[in-house]
Amino acid sequence: MKKNENKDMFKAAWNYAAAPESTDHINLQKQYDLYIDGKFIKPVKGKYFDTINPSNDKKIASVAEATAEDVDLAVKAARKAFKGWANLSGKDRGKYIFRIARLIQERAREFAVIESLDGGKPIRESRDIDIPLAANHFFYYAGWADKLEYAFPNRKPKPLGVVGQIIPWNFPLLMAAWKLAPALATGNTIVLKPAESTPLTALKLAEIINDCGLPKGVVNIVTGAGETGANIVNHPDINKIAFTGSTGVGKYIAKAIAGTDKKVTLELGGKGANIIFEDAAIDQAVEGIVNAIFFNQGHVCCAGSRLFVQESVAGLVIQKLKARMETLIVGDPLDKNTDIGAINSKKQLQTIQNYIKIGLSEGGEIYQPECSLPKEGNWCAPTLFLNVSQSHKIVQEEIFGPVLTVQTFRTINEVIEKANNTPYGLSAGVWTQNGAKIFHLTQRLEAGVIWANTFNKFDATSPFGGYKESGFGREGGLQGLKPYVKFE
Ligand code: ADP
Repeated sequence: MKKNENKDMFKAAWNYAAAPESTDHINLQKQYDLYIDGKFIKPVKGKYFDTINPSNDKKIASVAEATAEDVDLAVKAARKAFKGWANLSGKDRGKYIFRIARLIQERAREFAVIESLDGGKPIRESRDIDIPLAANHFFYYAGWADKLEYAFPNRKPKPLGVVGQIIPWNFPLLMAAWKLAPALATGNTIVLKPAESTPLTALKLAEIINDCGLPKGVVNIVTGAGETGANIVNHPDINKIAFTGSTGVGKYIAKAIAGTDKKVTLELGGKGANIIFEDAAIDQAVEGIVNAIFFNQGHVCCAGSRLFVQESVAGLVIQKLKARMETLIVGDPLDKNTDIGAINSKKQLQTIQNYIKIGLSEGGEIYQPECSLPKEGNWCAPTLFLNVSQSHKIVQEEIFGPVLTVQTFRTINEVIEKANNTPYGLSAGVWTQNGAKIFHLTQRLEAGVIWANTFNKFDATSPFGGYKESGFGREGGLQGLKPYVKFE
């Protein structure tokens, strides 16, 4: 194939087919209130903040900013609802959760468009991954609600009480589903806070929860920034905090609840290693590497952000990787052909740009394909760093953007040591045709999730979570029920 032929083919297809998903029939309000005790109510202090479309810097809506008073109302409503919900039969709890899943499916298109508008992710991903997985998560845990005695044989699980759930901006609806579904199935009541840059799908979910007649106060959704989150963490009548977000905030939460009897699960950052051996199916591996780091703009805690290639195939892999990066389309999140959408916020764009500067100052060799990025909004071209080593900051720290570091290795022991040499332990990927090698690596890599010859595959039935500074506790699967129950 001639140089760039591939790229031109994609660009031509793009120009021809560019057809942004329509925003007609997307029901968005100008202003969103808090969802507390089965009602949408104004915040006590009357404060609102703007949620911004990261692809054009335009305001989408104003959203209520919950202060300590509002959080207190939400916790009181959840406490009042607790006994009734916990004592409802598992079968009836399951019916409500099932109904939530069905309503997400019915309104899937609206959810997908709003997710892409508010968070910047490509519509193809919202439509094919985020929203269906969110619905599946509710379906899956609806099924457990009346089977808890099988999940915990010979022990009687009891719900913990009122759970505070704080979620990030990278998979807004999906993270709400990961948090809410197992907590509801086990009989807890909830105060959930979405991230301040992506509150809209959680508020849409509040509408669904309201429509499906869930008893009032069982789920309360409060919006606001870090301070609102801290008010949830520090509220004395909360029994557990479930958090997904940055390691910095995770550490703050762990300290804040030390000495209290609150329980906690933390799902924090990562610096996933993706390892290609010389016997791998190289084309398939390159496609997997691209998906591992550029999916969702690299705003993925389990992203494969460090690539390790066996020396004998390094030249070939890097050449193929660069060629594939040239074909990636960066642009309008609502365009069905977009591969890399908008960076979620100005703040995150600055963080990524700062890491790119650090990478260069440490001697890394950068590669970015040419892309004409839109003038407005937050954008970052897919980025590769060669010539990096273990001590480099961009190899050690989570960037949470479309930036991949590439290192080479000779032996299996060398790559295991390098892969494990970060403070994180969330994910890893192994590319080889040799099954024994896969089993050997899954034993020795310190990562909660290890994919073989694939990456970034999620399913409601599989547990997900980390080691080391990536946090503790598991979400998904049978294991995902445990953090929401106690035994007496
Ligand atoms: P980022 O730094 O990438 O924005 P965060 O970890 O700050 O990621 O955000 C994850 C979630 O944690 C968001 O909902 C955010 O509002 C919330 N949060 C931020 N700071 C605090 C805090 N001190 N206490 C509780 N929640 C917080």
